[in-house]
Amino acid sequence: MRRIDGHVHLVGDGSSGSGCFLRMDWPHQKFLSRLMLKEAGISPGVLGRDLDAAYVERLVEQVREADLDAAVLLAQDLPHTESGDPIPEKSGFFVPNDYLLEVCERHPDLFIPAVSIHPARRDAMEELERCIDRGAKVVKLLPNCRDVDYADPRYRPFWERVTEAGLILLSHTGGEHTLPVLRPAFADPRLLEAPLEIGVTVIAAHAAGKSGLWDPDYTHTLIEMFERYPNLYADNSALCTLNRSHTIAKVLRAPVMDRIIHGSDFPVPVTGLGPLRHGHIDRATWQRSRDDRHPLQRDVRLKKAIGFPEETFTRLDALLSR
Ligand SMILES: [Zn+2]
Repeated sequence: MRRIDGHVHLVGDGSSGSGCFLRMDWPHQKFLSRLMLKEAGISPGVLGRDLDAAYVERLVEQVREADLDAAVLLAQDLPHTESGDPIPEKSGFFVPNDYLLEVCERHPDLFIPAVSIHPARRDAMEELERCIDRGAKVVKLLPNCRDVDYADPRYRPFWERVTEAGLILLSHTGGEHTLPVLRPAFADPRLLEAPLEIGVTVIAAHAAGKSGLWDPDYTHTLIEMFERYPNLYADNSALCTLNRSHTIAKVLRAPVMDRIIHGSDFPVPVTGLGPLRHGHIDRATWQRSRDDRHPLQRDVRLKKAIGFPEETFTRLDALLSR
């Protein structure tokens, strides 16, 4: 079984003709992007000039050198209105499927493609078919920031085709604070019941925990759902951050652990301060993790030290090879 990081973002500035963008309209967006790049080991100087190439190069280096065999790399579709019009101005960043697939095709041994298709798109079914043909394994969506109503009956054929083709839905669950939120209520994992009922295998990113101080916390709701849906999983992505680490104790126990899948959420910084603060690791372990030059590897080390079992690293490969 391959050891996989199931949640790695592809990011770009369009400098290679990729079609990607990263919004820098506000000072805090600029600050956050520069900070993330610095933590990721990429010079913020490449922003707007050469980010596309520098980012992929850094990813390749990390997956090759970490205790990982592969990473699921994520595209990011635009928010769409109910009638299917894209709303680029409400999108913090955008990564088109074509670019994602092309990067994955260049490194088929390292990257597993997670495409992103808003089901309201007028060409959603054609795009899904095209992505399946090119080897997509996962569909990634961010319902609260991209305004995706999983319960909309018009999307039923979309979810049926996702199930039939054996694709996994990786969905953001819980609050989000680094991107514009269009529908806060869509952070609730219960919205996933529609695709789950149809038979889609779903991974709830961040185990539906809260991100900010005032968010509702949905991890308990998700744990209740595990009993009803054997096709539901959760990832532990970004749980080494200060604002999400309170979720660790809730998922670090049986039988919940049997549904957990490893993920980093790169380029979200892996500081390790969260697990240190909550007593999941000691100071010496935290210090050693800071010596890791690669955030992906640092995240692997921290998750192991916290107590996430080996199965959390290989579980996704078992799901992908079904
Ligand atoms: Zn993410």
